[in-house]
Amino acid sequence: YQGLAGRSTLEVLQLYSAHGQQQKLQGSSVVTQLCGTIKKKLKQDLKSLRTFALELSKDFHRQSKTYLYQVLTAVRGIQLQNEAMQMFQIKSLDLEQSLQEVTERYEKEKQKRRALHNSLVELRGNIRVHCRIRPLLPFDTDAGHSKSEDRQRNFSEKVAYAADDETVLVKCSRPGHASINKTFQFERVYNTLESQDIVFVDVAPLLTSLLDGYNVCIMAYGQTGSGKTYTMLGPQLEENFAYSIEDESELGIIPRATQEVFRLLSEKPPGSYWVEVSVVEVYNNEIFDLLAKDSYGKVFSVKRDVVTTREGKSDVPLLTHETVENASEFLNLVNKGLQLRVRHPTLVHAHSSRSHLVVTLTITTVNSGDNFGTSWEEELLGQKNKDVSCTFPQKMRESRSSSSSRASSPTQLEATEKLKQVKTRLQLVDLAGSECVGMSGVTGTALRETSYINRSLSALADVLGAIAEQRPHVPYRNSKLTHLLQDSLGGDAKLLVMLCISPDQKYLTESMQTLGFGTRARQVQRGQVKKKNFPVLSKAK
Ligand code: ADP
Ligand code: MG
Repeated sequence: YQGLAGRSTLEVLQLYSAHGQQQKLQGSSVVTQLCGTIKKKLKQDLKSLRTFALELSKDFHRQSKTYLYQVLTAVRGIQLQNEAMQMFQIKSLDLEQSLQEVTERYEKEKQKRRALHNSLVELRGNIRVHCRIRPLLPFDTDAGHSKSEDRQRNFSEKVAYAADDETVLVKCSRPGHASINKTFQFERVYNTLESQDIVFVDVAPLLTSLLDGYNVCIMAYGQTGSGKTYTMLGPQLEENFAYSIEDESELGIIPRATQEVFRLLSEKPPGSYWVEVSVVEVYNNEIFDLLAKDSYGKVFSVKRDVVTTREGKSDVPLLTHETVENASEFLNLVNKGLQLRVRHPTLVHAHSSRSHLVVTLTITTVNSGDNFGTSWEEELLGQKNKDVSCTFPQKMRESRSSSSSRASSPTQLEATEKLKQVKTRLQLVDLAGSECVGMSGVTGTALRETSYINRSLSALADVLGAIAEQRPHVPYRNSKLTHLLQDSLGGDAKLLVMLCISPDQKYLTESMQTLGFGTRARQVQRGQVKKKNFPVLSKAK
């Protein structure tokens, strides 16, 4: 503005306008420049954005490709795994199937092996020994009145197991005692869960043998409370000792065997056989006839004696043999006899039986002299002596009913010269408890009983020992029990010893003793048991 001093307004206005124009000119060129820069910048940005977008999409493509690949790989992997799984499933099914086949084959082989073993047992005249381990029972825990420390424990501990169906394992380690880990082999071992039905499955073939003409003896051995009576008869009712027939599945060997025998007999020609029963108790080394009747017909126990006949067989003269027509008649008689059986509760078990019980079922079959030695079926087909064989047993029965002796009179035999009688015998023995004296905590009469029981059971072991060692003299007569059972023990019968043991540790000593007895019994070889109705044929073979 200093320069404007002295200038005219016009000049000033001219100058101002020129200045303004110049400024305008300058301003527009700046804007243009700025726009250019911005454009340039924007272009650059756009370009880099494009590049970035391109890169991004490329990256995205690349990554999605990678991911896709990974997904595909994973899917493939899963597919492969699925396939592998299916393969495994197929393989496992195959394996399962082949395992089943192998198991079936194994079972078959086992049965074959058992059958072969049975034949071997039979050929050698061995004694079959089975062992049954009963379950732990409530009274195992409260049998603790004895001074013995073990028996005061109020809990049970299992020490005896069925390792398999032929092996008993006794395993026990107690502080202060040598540990026990022992196995015992028998023809058959029943575990605690195996029922009366299963036990009978193994007994049934012996009954077929009985009908084929072999004598059979089944004997239960074990301490009191180990399940002998349960196995032989079934569970007993507390008051009257009649065994409960309500629950058929609980029935023991004696009722089942009788039913089976009568079932088998029903297939034979009617009237060609008859069945008799005798019930004997061996108590304090005396033999008692439990079916003897007084003059009023009431059953009471009468002392009898056992003798050796001229043929070297044992016999009980005057022993009552009652004829029975069916299983229930048989069981009624056995039941009557059982009411008279001597008992004395030991601490081990409230219903201890202090005597040996021998129930004998005798089948007498009548064959005509002509076809002696032929089978029943052949006889049936032939129908040769139909009327004779039908009437003969009836006559026999009538004449026998007046006397209690089973011996048929010579006149009868003369009258029926051509008829041959064959007697086969099923002896069912429930032995007295094999526990040691000290164990039961008994005194006085019971102690005497126990010592008799112990003596008779050791006599039994001695007899088996003598037979096993093939000693010339077998001490049958050392006890009434062995004398009575002489024929069955000596090889006249197929003999099955059913060992009964309690699994509880309290009874370890007794169980070991029982298992030891069974092991020795297995070693007995008596020569082949003879068939009764084919004496000629078996000799000829
Ligand atoms: P034992 O005749 O040897 O003295 P018991 O047969 O009287 O022995 O058995 C003793 C108790 O055990 C009985 O009450 C009987 O019912 C029960 N018992 C035995 N064995 C079995 C078993 N296998 N299953 C269930 N209870 C059994
Ligand atoms: Mg008993």
